[in-house]
Amino acid sequence: MKTSNYLVSPGKKIRLSDYSTNDTLDLKSKEDATKLLEKNIENMRELQDKLYASNIYSLLIIFQAMDAAGKDGTIKHVMSGLNPQGTQVYSFKQPSKEELDHGYLWRIYKALPERGRIGIFNRSHYEEVLVVKVHNLIRYQQLPSELVDDKIWQRRYEQINNFEKYLHENGTVVLKFFLNISKDEQKKRFLKRIEDPAKHWKFSADDINERKYWNEYHKAYEDAINATSKDYAPWYVIPADKKWFTRLVVSEIIVETLEKLNLDYPKVSDEWLTELNKCKEILLKEKD
Ligand code: ATP
Ligand code: MG
Repeated sequence: MKTSNYLVSPGKKIRLSDYSTNDTLDLKSKEDATKLLEKNIENMRELQDKLYASNIYSLLIIFQAMDAAGKDGTIKHVMSGLNPQGTQVYSFKQPSKEELDHGYLWRIYKALPERGRIGIFNRSHYEEVLVVKVHNLIRYQQLPSELVDDKIWQRRYEQINNFEKYLHENGTVVLKFFLNISKDEQKKRFLKRIEDPAKHWKFSADDINERKYWNEYHKAYEDAINATSKDYAPWYVIPADKKWFTRLVVSEIIVETLEKLNLDYPKVSDEWLTELNKCKEILLKEKD
């Protein structure tokens, strides 16, 4: 599958409107995609096992999107085959009072995956240049006034780049997905949430309010993605109008990324092999 269509090449300035929201490449049906997704999940399971056993790299997967673009569902499906012991999902909400008393990366650091693990961020530090920018929440962040000027977003992009470079240089592989839903599809999904009692809980009146800021959000996303898609932490803009396709592409990129790490089980030393054989003999000689 040609996942490079969705990569934001570092240094290239993209427009979100140039990215399709309902592309399905050459896939004709949900059934075909589901089969491929299952194969990817199987591969991921094996790769995760090696990631965990070798305990060198960790993988951080960031999901950002407009409401109802399918972050939760994608996380649920794509991660369904993984060993929960080596996986952690963290959802970032409005910061608490304690969190606001620290720099914005404080809570992010605390949620990073340990070596050998896969960490999933449902929203992330990018909210700091998205919702915070769109709603000018910076005024609640207790920052010194001389540091709040029109260059603040530029500085935050740099801080984020430095942070992600640091992660990369210390063994964390960073992948970033923007699930790209159309405004029409969002409306359909909101209506479904309102009409289906089993989905009521997923809907909030705030969602309608946020929808009014669609263009502002898209501009903020565009600026953030352009400033922070790097070789060491690339952004992918994934079509999100068809959930089955979103899930497939995301799984494909995760598998590709893990495969590039050439993961393997740790090799044991000759001394340890001799030791293992001795243990085997002891067990076999045991009389019950
Ligand atoms: P769902 O798709 O189920 O609605 P969600 O990710 O939107 O999931 P919510 O609990 O609805 O989860 O919303 C979390 C809210 O927290 C979002 O509106 C998000 O913009 C906001 N948020 C996250 N991080 C920050 C931040 N650093 N500053 C301000 N708001 C933030
Ligand atoms: Mg929400």
